[in-house]
Amino acid sequence: MTRAANIVIIGGGIIGCLTAWFLREAGHEGPITVVERDSSYKFASTALSAASIRLQFACPVNVELSLFGLSFLRAVRERLDADSNIGLVERGYLILAGDKTLERRREALAMQRALGAEVVELDRDALRARYEWLSLDGVTMATIGDNDEGWFDAWSLLQAARRAALRRGVTIIESEAVGLRTHGDRVTGVALADGRRIAADWCVNAAGALSGRVSEFLDIPIPVVPRKRTVFHFKAPLDARSMPMLIDLTGAWLRPEGEGFIGGIQPDEAADPNAHDDFEPDHALFEERLWPVLAERVPALEQVRLLNTWAGHYEMNLFDQNGIIGPHPKIANFVFATGFSGHGLQHAPGAARAVAEQIVSGAYRTIDVTPLAFERIAEGRPMVESAIY
Ligand SMILES: Cc1cc2nc3c(=O)[nH]c(=O)nc-3n(C[C@H](O)[C@H](O)[C@H](O)COP(=O)(O)OP(=O)(O)OC[C@H]3O[C@@H](n4cnc5c(N)ncnc54)[C@H](O)[C@@H]3O)c2cc1C
Repeated sequence: MTRAANIVIIGGGIIGCLTAWFLREAGHEGPITVVERDSSYKFASTALSAASIRLQFACPVNVELSLFGLSFLRAVRERLDADSNIGLVERGYLILAGDKTLERRREALAMQRALGAEVVELDRDALRARYEWLSLDGVTMATIGDNDEGWFDAWSLLQAARRAALRRGVTIIESEAVGLRTHGDRVTGVALADGRRIAADWCVNAAGALSGRVSEFLDIPIPVVPRKRTVFHFKAPLDARSMPMLIDLTGAWLRPEGEGFIGGIQPDEAADPNAHDDFEPDHALFEERLWPVLAERVPALEQVRLLNTWAGHYEMNLFDQNGIIGPHPKIANFVFATGFSGHGLQHAPGAARAVAEQIVSGAYRTIDVTPLAFERIAEGRPMVESAIY
């Protein structure tokens, strides 16, 4: 790639802004333009996220991406912006397991530890001793990465990434990309809703839950769709301050937020259509699914006061619930960074760095994200990530 190449990134959420920043870090000196249709980020997944990070994944590449994500989050002030405060809390993801999932979980634990993740197994006695608020019905063991997992403020991270990109000479245009120009098997430009055309030597699809639409500009279908996820914020007569993130056997999740908690649960498949422009919280989910499960697992939650509810979209990869990173095999200057299915915030630093390495030097220099390449989709080889909540 010439140092002067024009790089256009569609989508200015966390993936787009960090990709722009990492391109500079990787030595790209030419123009970088981020096209973002709404800089208020009202509906962006980044702004609506539960913003948590864990090392406990089923696919090794995801563990590697989280390990890098964690080191990046710890150093945001030095790396991105001295004034940022992302409020990283490292208190672990306590993920419960029953008999049915025991073997799979122990295999995953061994893999995670081999990659350097300090995740430990807790038996029922240890759980009883550590978490007096937890009911152990149906629980055989649990795993937790005590200090290396937690949560943070996604909005502060996004703003820090955006400011850092702007400081490094990245241009952010507020407009919607509505088409792509091609010549032969290359993208040559991006058409904007306001009528402008931007020349592109590279185009990165970082459009999150809408990245399927962007791929359609090139008639490249990808299995990434917007799926609505509702977050409930509530108070309960339980001191949240020392608690970890909890993942129940049902997949319901709960974590401290301020003096209360936030929590959520995946809707049933039949009640989980592509969400398109629907951001209306699924209020019934709380009474019908989430609260009964949480109150059984954490009896103090039998009394809760709902404070707030919001919904955002997962950029759900229906093929295997994993990210898609890297160039399209035929249109090689069209690069994917999407499909993270609920774990894209923690994987944004690693994914963005990988895309920058690929564009600037034609290879992955640090984490080899080849397992997440588009080719697996074209060839029908799913690499399923089962740890999705
Ligand atoms: C409720 C919820 C909870 C979550 N919890 C977690 C969590 O705990 N941990 C975690 O790691 N991840 C979590 N996620 C997922 C995470 O938030 C996303 O994976 C991540 O934010 C994706 O970043 P992004 O930049 O790709 O997408 P976005 O933040 O959505 O950014 C994409 C941007 O592209 C813009 N755009 C789209 N199309 C166009 C176009 N044609 N032209 C111009 N601009 C366009 C959009 O306006 C948007 O701003 C959660 C998500 C939700 C909704």
